[in-house]
Amino acid sequence: MSFASASRHPQPILDTPSFRIFWSSSDALAIELKPGFTDANSSQWPPEQERTVDDRGRVNYDRYADSSKARFWKNKLGKILLRDTVIPELIRLGQAAVASGIRDASVSLIDFPHGYRLFIHESQDHLAPRTDPYLHGSVYVNHFRSPFEFLPHLEWIINGQPKKPDGKPDCQCTYCSGKPQKYIHAERHFSSSGDDEKPHRKRSRSRRGRQNKKTYDPIPAKDYTKLNLGTSSGTT
Ligand SMILES: [Zn+2]
Repeated sequence: MSFASASRHPQPILDTPSFRIFWSSSDALAIELKPGFTDANSSQWPPEQERTVDDRGRVNYDRYADSSKARFWKNKLGKILLRDTVIPELIRLGQAAVASGIRDASVSLIDFPHGYRLFIHESQDHLAPRTDPYLHGSVYVNHFRSPFEFLPHLEWIINGQPKKPDGKPDCQCTYCSGKPQKYIHAERHFSSSGDDEKPHRKRSRSRRGRQNKKTYDPIPAKDYTKLNLGTSSGTT
């Protein structure tokens, strides 16, 4: 009996409540999320649309991304999860030798959390449309535009989706936290992990940067000296 289950599910290197990691071949690791670890469902996906061209020659629609694009995301997510979640956990468990043995291995996330799906948003000139990958499905975030945007949200899912006292996700992704992605990128050393995805076009980045800035600008300290010190607070 144990042989049968071992062949179907290779012995995991690390098995946590939310995911497990194992050798999927002689030289590649796979990270598999466990059922129930998701905040997504397909009702959040964009509606099915025909690719229509408007009278100014523009398109604006979403289509499913092909599997190679999704694979790129899953490889990137797997690589950072290995570095920032799996290796530290193995070291914490006293498995430093195992950790160093897998540090440079090829690794991929087997699949996105259940209910997530990668789309390509096509816009502008229909002859040479702008194409942006959008990961849809989260009930909290409209879409994620890169594996690096999604990674902190994925970690939040893996950590059991902790909430703040106000019921909002206690998540460090750019959308939940309001921090610009460039700060997260720098803090997490995402770009140092190697082959980065092509940067988004300037227009998109600056537009989003402005949006985020609104919520990230430090709130100035209240100037209590301007309170009505002369009037009593009426608590008598
Ligand atoms: Zn988030």
